[in-house]
Amino acid sequence: MPLSNDELVEIHGILGREPTKAELNMFEAQWSEHCSYKSSRYYLKLLPSDGEDVIIGPGRDAPAVKIFNNYAVVFKIESHNHPSAIDPYNGAATGVGGIVRDILTLGARPIALLDMLFLGDPTDQHANWLIKNVVRGISDYGNRIGVPVVSGMTWFDKAYNRYPLVNVACVGIVETSKLVNKVPEANDLIVIIGNTTGRDGLLGSSFASKPLDSSEDYLNNISAVQVGNPLIEKLIIDFIVDITDLGVVKYIKDLGGGGLATAVSELTADYGLGATIVLDNLHLREHDLRPEEILVSESQERMLLVVSRDDFKVVQELLEKYGIQYSVVGSLDRSGVIKVYYRGDLIAEVPAKALAKPRIRLRDAVVPKHFNELNVEVRITDIPEVKDLRKLMLKMLRSPNIASKEWIYSQYDYEVGIRTVVKPGYGDAAVLRLVEVGDGLGIAVKGDGNPRYTYINPFRGAANAVAECYRNLVSVGSKPIAIVDEVNAGNPEKPDHYWYFTEMVKGISWMAQELKLPVVGGKVSFYNEDLSMNSPVKPVATIVGVGTIANIRNVVTLDLKEDDDLILIVGTTYPELGATEFLHVYLGLELGEAPLPRPSSELRNAGFISELVRLGYVKAVHDVDVGGVAVAIAEMCIKGLKGVVIDLSKIPNRGCSRYEELLFSETQARYLVEVGSEVLDVVVDLARKYGVDVGVIGRVVGDELVISYDGHILTKLKVDELVNAYENSLNELMS
Ligand SMILES: [Mg+2]
Repeated sequence: MPLSNDELVEIHGILGREPTKAELNMFEAQWSEHCSYKSSRYYLKLLPSDGEDVIIGPGRDAPAVKIFNNYAVVFKIESHNHPSAIDPYNGAATGVGGIVRDILTLGARPIALLDMLFLGDPTDQHANWLIKNVVRGISDYGNRIGVPVVSGMTWFDKAYNRYPLVNVACVGIVETSKLVNKVPEANDLIVIIGNTTGRDGLLGSSFASKPLDSSEDYLNNISAVQVGNPLIEKLIIDFIVDITDLGVVKYIKDLGGGGLATAVSELTADYGLGATIVLDNLHLREHDLRPEEILVSESQERMLLVVSRDDFKVVQELLEKYGIQYSVVGSLDRSGVIKVYYRGDLIAEVPAKALAKPRIRLRDAVVPKHFNELNVEVRITDIPEVKDLRKLMLKMLRSPNIASKEWIYSQYDYEVGIRTVVKPGYGDAAVLRLVEVGDGLGIAVKGDGNPRYTYINPFRGAANAVAECYRNLVSVGSKPIAIVDEVNAGNPEKPDHYWYFTEMVKGISWMAQELKLPVVGGKVSFYNEDLSMNSPVKPVATIVGVGTIANIRNVVTLDLKEDDDLILIVGTTYPELGATEFLHVYLGLELGEAPLPRPSSELRNAGFISELVRLGYVKAVHDVDVGGVAVAIAEMCIKGLKGVVIDLSKIPNRGCSRYEELLFSETQARYLVEVGSEVLDVVVDLARKYGVDVGVIGRVVGDELVISYDGHILTKLKVDELVNAYENSLNELMS
């Protein structure tokens, strides 16, 4: 977004003169919301980021958290929403490229990608085109750099028909002793490696910091969308992994939003340094680029390295071995000022700190008018009895939010590198083997977010996303250690949109503190609205979490394993039908109070599940999520190709008066588990010890899902029918 008049006055004050063209572009890029976090920094301080195992927290391009045997996991999330709305293929692809480079900045080897996609209604023609290209963009880029997309989540809502939210995350590992985390010093060289600098992505960060408000915007902004080159990225990955082993690079930064200007300004400001940059030295794609364009180009696959003069030769040799283009564009000094030269002229001279950290903008936040309309009490007496449960069950399984996402993940090469232990769809989280770290060791990763909850109640929605991610990590048998967040919201200058942002941050912060999960990094994306539709995009907090697995042989999947085993529900069910998939599919409503976040139940129930996994008592675990028990049990049948007989009256509950509440409530902190009958007594004893409510609700038997209530059969569905509805729906919608 162009600089405001106030900001221009401020810049005048900082420089004590009229800014040059180059300086104006540097300020516009760096002071954009995207780069400076000027509207969000104040609230982001609320997020708890400390933890025993946190090696590098927020502030760098990516955080690092200790896992096992002197290894750290490096993971980060980012959004590529604006570019993906205009050019979905390149927008999504470069999102992947960017997040991988964030991981590389600490010298980590990227091992997995996750995508959290909030997409339009597949039956809408434009939305369908966006969906296809977003998925293809991610898959082409990910497959070509050889980093598998192992997990994520997808949500479909017509609110995203013209403006999808594309959040991607990357996970890497590195030996802690090799983390690229030295202090840059005066006299060190600034080296730019990788792709040539061109006109693509000019001032992309500024473009991402305003709403897209007319169809003309879509066309005019095509030049702000970058085009990716995964082959160069692959070389950079291999080079960085190699050079990290040699320990000769002090510091690495991605050239992301704001390009060279932002990378140099953040580097110098963070270490109280200055720099001299000679733009003529940079390798260019288009030779008619003006110097002020070179500074803010967001051409992809470029990184900044800080190398001491003594070590440069080693770096140079390796760059040449890999055939990676590079330029020494300047050096660091103690001046605290960034000086940029072009053809012998000094074209910019800016104090680094003033450039890097604009004043925090305190924005007004007000509760939107529709909040009270949406947050109405949903009384069971107002809900008509479900007459045809069988039909409703199948309709829910076909709902794109529930149905198998195989159409998406089958386009991803998720088995690249043979780390993936659990096939997509078979576990609540992806599990990755870490052979280089130690025998039997692994990590689990998962991304979550629920825009229906956050739209209705951003605080609860964001808190529940943290809890959901935590449960998914616990379900496969991992110990959650840290999360990162991406807060996707509307225009911060509009108080009723900004309110969503503040509430989401508070929700994440509260739940993360309660669950003792440090939020080690994150991003904020504002201006996610599509004014041409005259409807704002639903805001959402996306959470990506990592858990450690000490013994990969104990990993648990969600598919039913053996006839005659028992099905237990862990946790208490409340009559919480507000904001549920049931209400949406059955009555076409998206309202009511979102399920209450219950951190103490989360901790207690997760502790119990972890103990069951550790003792080897559970054969399948699945957390209860969107769609309630109905969907959770159906998925266990579908993946295990086994039938089940359940009695809903056996579900421990408070205040549920009708079976619909027991079957479809989205009460948090619940799990379904499969146990052999021989361990039932021990498991029930253990539950008592943990103070956890459990109910034996059914048995694995036959080839039908039989749902009964108090001994009366409500419906019977052949597992084949369930499979058919669940597995084929999205394929059909997308073909
Ligand atoms: Mg789950």
